[in-house]
Amino acid sequence: MKQNLLKTLDEKKIFKLVLGLGNQDFEEIEDLVTVYAIAGADMFDINPSKEAIEAVLRGVKKAGRQIEEFYYTISTGLLGDSHVQKCHIDKNKCKRCGKCIKKCPRNAIEWNGEFPEVIVQKCIGCKKCDDCKAISFNDTEYNIEEIVKLAKKYKLDCVELHISSKKIPEQEIKYVLKEFSGALSVCLDRKYYSNERIKKLINKIIKWKQDSKFIIQADGVPMSGGDDTFKSTLQAVAMAHLVQDYGTYIFMSGGTNTKTAWLAKTCELRYNGIGIGSYARKIVKNKKLEEAVHEAEKLIKACKNDRED
Ligand code: SF4
Ligand code: SF4
Repeated sequence: MKQNLLKTLDEKKIFKLVLGLGNQDFEEIEDLVTVYAIAGADMFDINPSKEAIEAVLRGVKKAGRQIEEFYYTISTGLLGDSHVQKCHIDKNKCKRCGKCIKKCPRNAIEWNGEFPEVIVQKCIGCKKCDDCKAISFNDTEYNIEEIVKLAKKYKLDCVELHISSKKIPEQEIKYVLKEFSGALSVCLDRKYYSNERIKKLINKIIKWKQDSKFIIQADGVPMSGGDDTFKSTLQAVAMAHLVQDYGTYIFMSGGTNTKTAWLAKTCELRYNGIGIGSYARKIVKNKKLEEAVHEAEKLIKACKNDRED
């Protein structure tokens, strides 16, 4: 039987593949999981849908591995979080310049006749196409009860709430604490929250939970990964540094790459895991399985070795 996630985090640092909160390209999810399951990932971070969970499980099986060998988080963005927003193009305002198509890193905008069209399943709300009056973003609805139900049904290890709105989502956090026996993870970034507000929120959760045994995902600059530079990962490390004195478990994400563990070690940072999304997806894109696994192995090794070889 699989060991409890938090107990494992007490013993070792783990690598989590973030599949993209808004990513509904289930074929891509399955392929990514196959590659990273072979390469030695420990955990998969999945968007809150039955289809995405099923795709992850298929990917694990395709890799020839057992479901129980990995940990699974179901992640949801709460209202206002860009992870759950989808791009919308107003044709009446569109000048058909095509710039948004070039800017989108997910190929989520394509020409459909005369106008660009968003492929909603591929859009992850990264807002790299944002610089145009014809473009706006819609929130996708979420239902915390359904999400917890899914987590229980598939025996997932963790429910993660992305908190990036002006209002502290007290009800949602309390609901997960009450109804879910697995781990709680709260993903925090500094879009709306000052350092002081983040500290206040952590203290509140500790009070509601009556201990600090939960995960904080320190999200540097959400969905900013892509470059393998110190600059790209700097904010994730800085964010982890900000929250490291509360006794919670800490994951770094948002701009994470092969430099993250190295920088964290140099800063003498305490943390329990690294979650990588954009960069992990980018380095295996359009590669054959063997080559993709090789790239993924290099990334995981860099995350676990604390230094660049
Ligand atoms: S939506 Fe904006 S960026 Fe995209 S083609 Fe139309 S005018 Fe250009
Ligand atoms: S650039 Fe980002 S937000 Fe815009 S369509 Fe592409 S994935 Fe969606």
